[in-house]
Amino acid sequence: MPRSTVARIDLEALRRNFQTARSRAGGAQVMAVVKADGYGHGIGPVALALDSLAPKYAVACLEEARAIRETGLVQPVVLLQGVHAEADIEECAQQGFEPVFHSFQQLAWLERLEARPVFWLKVNSGMNRLGFHPDELAGVMSRLQAISADQGLLGFVTHFACADDPESAMTAHQTSVFEQATAAFPGLMKSVANSAAHFHPEQPMFDWSRPGIMLYGGSPMVGKTGRELGLEPVMSLEAPLISTRVVPAGESVGYGASWVADCDTRMGMVAIGYGDGYPRHAGTNTPAAINGQRIRLIGRVSMDMLAVDLTNAPDAKEGDNVELWGRTVGVDEVAACAGTISYELMTGITGRVPRQYR
Ligand SMILES: *Cc1c(COP(=O)(O)O)cnc(C)c1O
Repeated sequence: MPRSTVARIDLEALRRNFQTARSRAGGAQVMAVVKADGYGHGIGPVALALDSLAPKYAVACLEEARAIRETGLVQPVVLLQGVHAEADIEECAQQGFEPVFHSFQQLAWLERLEARPVFWLKVNSGMNRLGFHPDELAGVMSRLQAISADQGLLGFVTHFACADDPESAMTAHQTSVFEQATAAFPGLMKSVANSAAHFHPEQPMFDWSRPGIMLYGGSPMVGKTGRELGLEPVMSLEAPLISTRVVPAGESVGYGASWVADCDTRMGMVAIGYGDGYPRHAGTNTPAAINGQRIRLIGRVSMDMLAVDLTNAPDAKEGDNVELWGRTVGVDEVAACAGTISYELMTGITGRVPRQYR
């Protein structure tokens, strides 16, 4: 028998979260962002589950776009990082992948090729990761026109640096930089919104929104949980209790002897650790749950196991399943305890943990 450590994936919850994104996208169409193996949920099953809802998918790289095609899905797939080699552009044309070109190198590749895909241009509106500066856009457009590649141009994309913070003025600033930069090229589409932007009441959504984390129930907003934003958890990370004992007052548990019992404490060992992607930075008092009852971690997370305090769950016994995050304990709560965001936790679950779909 394999150990029962598992990530249960609720595909109905995923679909409901997609509908929430759609209801918050104004008139924009919604492309489902399924990069990084569907944020750790499994790109194939996630993409298939959204088949009847998502008119487009978005991923980071070509390998991920291929994984979508391998499921048999035929929707366009946006490549958010463009391509990494000239030869990839032809594959995009054949496969219905829509690269987002962000560099003069990619533009030069495009100029050399006959078979061109439809594509997007990335505008750097202030994040300063990728994209053409607004001042460069006119030059890029005339180079495209010179080779008639402007016919394949779908529109413009930009990405927000601070949309997770509703107090930040940066999002409105980037939006206006983007609008001014693209105003000279009417009739083309625009896409700006990540998940967070769906929770800014004043944010223009333009033609296509690009939600990722919210589809999986994680919060895109600082200081708010997914549940508080009306999102449903999709992943329930579970592992069995494999041992229980009473640690006498004054004794410690685990590596570094970092947690010491101040009274006799019934505790249990759970068969999951950082080798499964559970964050090692989650310290004592990080929440977990057993049989719907909230409990807490104690001591350091090991590679293959972690310790929990069973004081709140006197009936818990070996073989019972512990929820590390899911419906009782939100992934955002665990992320906060580990000094990170739900994105990193969900994408970090390793291949040792089987995904089970519902
Ligand atoms: C990952 C990504 C998204 C989705 O972001 P979320 O915060 O997960 O909604 C949207 N656009 C781009 C360009 C991305 O890289």
